[in-house]
Amino acid sequence: MALIVQKYGGSSVANAKKILRVAQRVIKTKRAGHKVVVVVSAMGDMTDDLIALAGQINKNPEEREMDMLLSTGEQVSIALLAMAVHKLGHQAVSFTGPQVGIITDEFHSKARIQNVSAERIKKALGDGKIVIVAGFQGQTPSGEITTLGRGGSDLTAVALAVALKAKHCEIYTDVDGIYTADPRVIPEARKMSVATYDEILELASLGAKVMHSRSIEVGKKFNMPIRVRNSHKDVQGTLITKENKKMEEVVVSGVALAEDEAKITLFRVSDRPGVAAKVFQTLADANVNVDMIIQNKTQTNSTDISFTVLKHELTKALKTVKAAMKKVGATSITCDENIAKVSVVGIGMRSHSGIASKMFSTLAKHKINIDMISTSEIKISVVVAGDKGRLAARAIHRAFGLDKK
Ligand code: ADP
Ligand code: ASP
Ligand code: MG
Repeated sequence: MALIVQKYGGSSVANAKKILRVAQRVIKTKRAGHKVVVVVSAMGDMTDDLIALAGQINKNPEEREMDMLLSTGEQVSIALLAMAVHKLGHQAVSFTGPQVGIITDEFHSKARIQNVSAERIKKALGDGKIVIVAGFQGQTPSGEITTLGRGGSDLTAVALAVALKAKHCEIYTDVDGIYTADPRVIPEARKMSVATYDEILELASLGAKVMHSRSIEVGKKFNMPIRVRNSHKDVQGTLITKENKKMEEVVVSGVALAEDEAKITLFRVSDRPGVAAKVFQTLADANVNVDMIIQNKTQTNSTDISFTVLKHELTKALKTVKAAMKKVGATSITCDENIAKVSVVGIGMRSHSGIASKMFSTLAKHKINIDMISTSEIKISVVVAGDKGRLAARAIHRAFGLDKK
């Protein structure tokens, strides 16, 4: 009897009818002779709605209270799904993250899982029940409720699959699997039947929100196979697994577009050791994630530093950096919310040259200016004007032949 963890995203449990459909699917898996643990997200856009609601009351809510609020979304879904399973004549029990021993650090709104005991899950499975767990949440060792970052139910699912030594983890969503680009932005994108952890990790951390990036990190670390599938159709999805020889032949496997970042530039920062350390340490202390960084020496004895942060952390980032400006001798600061980051990803890029030049010449052909560039072994990212992001992503997708078999 194999144990399978299934995760259903917000769109899969958006209303009562869909919850009943998920219940049927879960029961089918149980009937096929498996032990089933189900992780669910909040219904539809409930998390966004709760964030908007909080904003009507306080523009700057405390992160602890925000987590208290957002964790309720998933609690609604688990109870309703358990009721749906009961209605169909099967045994099920729902648990919150804290109830199943998901322990995290204390960083509210983006807490990291430190430990999963899962004792109550094992006991309930032993009693023959389908176990339904709230995604996206945990608690600190001192009992404070935390959330794992937007899209964090994927992480709950993979972490539970690892803790319970599941056969694999199934992620059910509203598309057929992972595509060469977001199929809603680039309709000619193609579904991948297999992909490596590294590729999906890059795609996810570069903005393809189909999977939470830390869930892939955990999957990779413990070699847990992850299958991404459509919750409404019985079609083969995408298997995320470790690398094999054949996969290396694929040079570029996907394109990601991120429209949720903003750029900050600090002008005429003193050109001496320790200055960049100061700027980015202050941001780290404020728990702001920094993505791309570019430093440029000016003709005087100073440098300009540009970097990107998530738009929703822009206010916090600006406040933090402004407070440190004097210490690093910066003369002024600007920010730009109208940017988009476009990236190409592929493990085969390690052994191929010419990918960057092809990407840049494609952008040039479309008269799209490049604002920032960053590269790693298996990706190249550029920042362009926000209103050019989609055009750039589509052109690059085509230039690398990702629209063709
Ligand atoms: P869920 O609620 O199931 O967690 P998400 O909205 O978080 O669903 O993720 C699914 C969405 O991810 C899709 O609807 C799609 O628009 C988007 N997406 C972005 N990049 C990709 C990609 N490369 N492949 C598939 N989907 C992608
Ligand atoms: N409900 C949370 C969110 O919308 C977590 C998730 O869906 O995975 O971000
Ligand atoms: Mg998601």
